[in-house]
Amino acid sequence: MSEHTPASGPLVEGPHDPEHDPRASYALEPEYVASLTRRIVSSTGRTAPVFSPLGGQPLAHIPQSSTADVAQAYVRARRAQAAWARTSLDERAAMLLRLHDLVLDRQEEIIDLVVLESGKARKHAFDEPLHIALTARYYGRTAHQHLDTERKLGVVPGLTRVEVNRVPKGVVGIISPWNYPFTMALCDGIPALLAGNAVVAKPDAQTMLSALLGAQLLEEAGFPPDLWQVVAGPGAELGTPVIDGADYVCFTGSTATGRLIARQCAERLIGCSLELGGKNPLLVLRDADLEKAAEGAVRASFSNAGQLCVSMERLFVADQVYDRFVERFVARTQAMTLGASLEWGVDMGSLVSQAQLDTVQAHVGDAVARGARVLAGGRARPDLGPYFFEPTILEGVTPDMTCFGQETFGPVVSIYRFHDEADAVARANAGEYGLNASIYTQDGARGRAIARQVTCGTVNINEAFGATFASIDSPMGGMRESGMGRRQGSEGIHRYTESQSVATQRLIRFAPMLGMSDERYAQVMTAQLRLMKKLGRA
Ligand code: NAD
Repeated sequence: MSEHTPASGPLVEGPHDPEHDPRASYALEPEYVASLTRRIVSSTGRTAPVFSPLGGQPLAHIPQSSTADVAQAYVRARRAQAAWARTSLDERAAMLLRLHDLVLDRQEEIIDLVVLESGKARKHAFDEPLHIALTARYYGRTAHQHLDTERKLGVVPGLTRVEVNRVPKGVVGIISPWNYPFTMALCDGIPALLAGNAVVAKPDAQTMLSALLGAQLLEEAGFPPDLWQVVAGPGAELGTPVIDGADYVCFTGSTATGRLIARQCAERLIGCSLELGGKNPLLVLRDADLEKAAEGAVRASFSNAGQLCVSMERLFVADQVYDRFVERFVARTQAMTLGASLEWGVDMGSLVSQAQLDTVQAHVGDAVARGARVLAGGRARPDLGPYFFEPTILEGVTPDMTCFGQETFGPVVSIYRFHDEADAVARANAGEYGLNASIYTQDGARGRAIARQVTCGTVNINEAFGATFASIDSPMGGMRESGMGRRQGSEGIHRYTESQSVATQRLIRFAPMLGMSDERYAQVMTAQLRLMKKLGRA
């Protein structure tokens, strides 16, 4: 059993040392698995196995939901939501602050499960409880700022009192991916609950356990159990019933699936937010601190083995510093430690599945066959585990190569030289995506000026992605084909509410009064409008 295994003891170590033997197997205590999977709404009697990418063995058997189960989940969620909407905002916020503490206290258990299910390095798994703690604390502390009834300007000063209420949408359907299985399952639901909604969650089938642990922690933090329903099964089967029952849909995943979801939501006239893919650019300007830029580029490109929507797949480096930067970046990349391990000290873990490995190999193979040069990495590493691939830097990538414009979603980055900044910005903006960008420069003001020209939803200056992603007060999401809507900040919670304007009128009415003709009324109103403008009123 690993040293950090929590007291609750979910893990049973297999026969081999995972650091040295790719056939190492892990198993989970059946009682532990059952304590998580009991939350799934399932009446089918069917299960599907989930496998650990660390060694490829089955980790658990997950009960599967049918269309009828999804409908049942909505029935329960609606019932719970009706009571939940009557609880006070202070009560709900207090639960989020409890969740913050619970997630920090139970981080070892969360991280173990995330590493087992996703194969990622422990340090990348730590980002998940970290992000949920930040999100829970932020919304717990700012609940009133976002949700209190707001006074607005009335049309007749002093006589028209206008207030805007934030009314919960009802039940939110959340469809989440496997790459950050704990945080992506929970982070969008936190503001939904705070705003008075219930949730029906459909996490990715490969990483159900991490998502179920999130549901369990919500319950332990005090949220009513029925408020957060979980269904399990393939997206292609359960996606439509999840959308059919929802009052709003929050989706994180690929652009292709996002398009399907947007169409179905449009048909039902319900809103949706879509957090989709990216082909994110990182710019190293000629005045950049090259050590910092090289260190940042490693994290930007290889965090979570590149299976991160905001990670960088295109580096644009100023001519004047190109060689010096590349030397540093390649050296740092080659020094990375790879491994299948639950322990700290590994720089990069496994890809999540054979499908991910196939995509990465196809992109690198195609680029090399068409003349790209491999500056670092470039090979699968079956000696470490079934889905390992080295962190890879490509040079000489051209538009005819698949990885020039298509998202790889793996540890592969292409590096390009630029001569002038306008050209670098134009190339960074090329393509359909617009999720995240990063700019390295020692001149912050210049970095911010360039950021305004970049068509991405987030831009990090002298950081890879963490500065925007962890600043929960600021919105996060994609422009163009990287998405619609925003998570985090006010936008991240207002998406789950309907704004309701309530105006109370006193003394006058919006119609001719005291025997006034319609024509006279129009003249009086016209004079009033002119006066208001002169007085500077909005
Ligand atoms: P995916 O779209 O295949 O799957 C994501 C989720 O959608 C899963 O839960 C899946 O079961 C479900 N799904 C699949 N088909 C569906 C359908 N027809 N109807 C409804 N739901 C369906 O994405 P993926 O390939 O597993 O995930 C990787 C992608 O997600 C990458 O493109 C990545 O950039 C993107 N992503 C974006 C963000 C972000 O915040 N912008 C975060 C993580 C991942």
